[in-house]
Amino acid sequence: MKALRFHGPKDIRYEELPDRELGPDEALLAPRAVGICGTDLEIYQGSMFYFTSGLARWPVIPGHEWSAEVLAVGERVQNVKPGDKVVGECTVACGRCEMCRLGFYNECPNRQETGILNLDGAFADKMYYPASFLHKFEKMSFEEAALVEPTAVAVWGTKLVNVTPADTVAVLGPGPIGLLAMQVARAYGARRIAMVGRRETRLQLAEELGADGVINTRTQDLVQEAKRMTSGRLFDVVLEATGNPQVTEDLMKITRPRGRISLMGLFNSQMGKIDLDALVVGNITLQGSLGSPGVWDETVSLIERGLVRCRPLITHRFALQDVAEAFVLIQDRTSDVVKVSLRP
Ligand SMILES: [Zn+2]
Ligand SMILES: [Zn+2]
Repeated sequence: MKALRFHGPKDIRYEELPDRELGPDEALLAPRAVGICGTDLEIYQGSMFYFTSGLARWPVIPGHEWSAEVLAVGERVQNVKPGDKVVGECTVACGRCEMCRLGFYNECPNRQETGILNLDGAFADKMYYPASFLHKFEKMSFEEAALVEPTAVAVWGTKLVNVTPADTVAVLGPGPIGLLAMQVARAYGARRIAMVGRRETRLQLAEELGADGVINTRTQDLVQEAKRMTSGRLFDVVLEATGNPQVTEDLMKITRPRGRISLMGLFNSQMGKIDLDALVVGNITLQGSLGSPGVWDETVSLIERGLVRCRPLITHRFALQDVAEAFVLIQDRTSDVVKVSLRP
């Protein structure tokens, strides 16, 4: 098989690797589309926490947002067969520990994370994958299906704060996760949704995808606009998808008493400020969210039924070998890039 393997920071090698025998519970896959996200960029730069802390080992074949076709299956595999179109969960867990048995396998202490934590990903023409972490799809393209993983992350983070038709929702950060979470909140029936950001093209995209209003914090006052959009009540739910620690100061200012806040991404910083007294006085819930356990079939359905649209997020396409060019593009904050799709 051929793969793009990362041997260390900025040390990318396109390599021929030996094929191996398929395990009894594994499927052999041909990746058809792979998305890249901030985590891949951090791995490329060597700044990703798992690698700096020694938890993850080099070399690694990245690629955790992917879709594939099944080529062959091991003798015990029953849930997929050759020819099926599949997506795979990023977290591959042990299935035996307490967190796994409770269904929270995103917290499994023995977990691997595809393309990140000691399990090779989809920057390759073939992939060996534990079949029980695969999910089938039919009614979307391979390119769209590569966005099932970030959508599942958005579904989990939205579900944790239990969005209902009673809620007004603010989404902070119109990046891929924010744009997907906004659509998930809409699918769950939220009565009014605001997208908060700084890049005009992305705010426009949020409106096209169903945001009821946008707040550009470069030119508008966040609290004043939040009040205007909610008849002075402020938001029942705030979905934080910027990962910017400076934004945390604003959270309590736009959340109403009894409101819920979901933090959907890592900050890679200890510098975030939260007004704890406002949290206490407002009886506000602050919810951390990472991973996507148990929501994959729901996520496939949300996209296949058109309730979440992924295609408009794909703004750029590259061949897998040109991934370094794609990394330059996603670091350029003046570019109009939202999501890059790679062809293995
Ligand atoms: Zn990702
Ligand atoms: Zn486990």
